[in-house]
Amino acid sequence: MNKPYIHPKIGPRAAAFLAKEHKLLIGGKWVPARSGKTFETFDPGTGRVIAKIAEGDAADVDLAVAAARRAFESGPWRTITPSERGKMIWRLADLLEQNAEEIAVLETLNNGKPLATSRDRDVPGCADLFRYMAGWATKITGETISISTPGQFHAFTVREPVGVVGQIIPWNGPLAMATWKLAPALATGCTVVLKPAEQTPLTALRLGELIQEAGIPDGVVNIVTGFGATAGAAIAAHPDIDKVGFTGSSEVGRIIVHAAAGNLKKVSLELGGKSPVIVFPDADMSVAVPGATQAIFANSGQVCTAGSRLFAHKKVFDKMIDGIAQQAGKIRIGHGLSDEAQMGPVISQTQMDRVMGYVDQGRAAGATVAAGGKRIGGEGYFIAPTILTDTNPEMSVVREEIFGPVLCAMSFDDDDLERIAKQANDSIYGLAGSIWTQNISIGHKMAQRIRAGRVGINTHGNVDAALPTGGYKQSGWGREKGHEGLHLYTEVKSVIVSL
Ligand code: ADP
Ligand code: MG
Repeated sequence: MNKPYIHPKIGPRAAAFLAKEHKLLIGGKWVPARSGKTFETFDPGTGRVIAKIAEGDAADVDLAVAAARRAFESGPWRTITPSERGKMIWRLADLLEQNAEEIAVLETLNNGKPLATSRDRDVPGCADLFRYMAGWATKITGETISISTPGQFHAFTVREPVGVVGQIIPWNGPLAMATWKLAPALATGCTVVLKPAEQTPLTALRLGELIQEAGIPDGVVNIVTGFGATAGAAIAAHPDIDKVGFTGSSEVGRIIVHAAAGNLKKVSLELGGKSPVIVFPDADMSVAVPGATQAIFANSGQVCTAGSRLFAHKKVFDKMIDGIAQQAGKIRIGHGLSDEAQMGPVISQTQMDRVMGYVDQGRAAGATVAAGGKRIGGEGYFIAPTILTDTNPEMSVVREEIFGPVLCAMSFDDDDLERIAKQANDSIYGLAGSIWTQNISIGHKMAQRIRAGRVGINTHGNVDAALPTGGYKQSGWGREKGHEGLHLYTEVKSVIVSL
């Protein structure tokens, strides 16, 4: 391998981290993969190699699961109080903030997103979620239950940690996805084998160091970097893992479900989306236009809840398209570490080809490219914010998740909310949606009719730690974050005492 590329603006601390040998975290020790293999990780803003990472596979997953099992059954994690557990998670949040700049630089370098997003939104958001879940550690309760069986009984439920959990995460928000998984698992007292996406292992590894620094005992969090078909598949199928949490494509979600059937481990899934943005004629354009622009182009469209299908009433359709195109044209696109960048690259050559392939399919099927539709520059994987009009529900660009900066726009000419909702719900997915209107009654009526795990009225997204997130239909199983997210990591036990 050539010497890894060091971006001139990464700063000494991120540079020092990058220069390390990147190993697996198993049982509190940093170890190379058993096979001795490594793989390269890239800066999508330049396409250049930035580090070599240990390539874990099934043999390493076995060791990590054994370490997690030991830490669960006989480690101090089981005997410390919920309050102590909460304090350690809180300390981890403090450490994240103290190292915010370095972690944000690593996130941006590996994922491509603008530094301002990594530093000012993602790192604080992750610290918030760790703290939110740290607070729950002392508030995990059951219920007392009056039972009617003849005799005298005292009956109650307790919530216990589900056990050893495998967590497989994607590359679109590497630190956030690790946090969504780890925070509730730690709060409930589970132990973890985490597999970051092969495209973006860096911040999860840095987080692993901070987990140690926070005093979380050895073996509680194990991190196995590697590929999906090897390390990921080994986690999904492992007979000694009690639960697997997955975020990624619906295609792989299905594979995980099959693999989990072997020992019937619990499964939670956060999968694809094709979320509608529904704009009524009375919508405040000064809110709806930037809202819809953000909904699709944030993180270069690589967001599972992205508002990728626009439905605007005929009366405001042109205004919406002109407005979004104008705003999209002003988005400053560039390397995430450049001062001016508001939108970075997509994650990889593969992803760029995939997204451009969809744009071509749309064109071939009769869609009009109203904005963008092309790659930008020759280095890195930049795609111009793209709007496709003259689209219809039969087109693959409208039906399938593109996971890139491509908006499919359609209009409606109707006042019937049922019919509008039917169009919006015409998708195998049900992750999110938004409704733009100044009529509060229409807003709520539509919110009731949208079959999705999150619906915004005059806003598309909110990633607050307290708000459950997840999908209806083929967008997933279960809800992450919030109180609901905690329950993914507990088992309920009924205890009956005969008096
Ligand atoms: P994408 O194709 O956009 O990278 P994936 O759903 O394939 O999204 O990847 C999400 C996560 O799932 C990654 O961590 C990846 O390594 C993992 N993964 C991919 N294939 C499998 C598989 N067969 N079994 C388990 N995990 C997998
Ligand atoms: Mg894949």
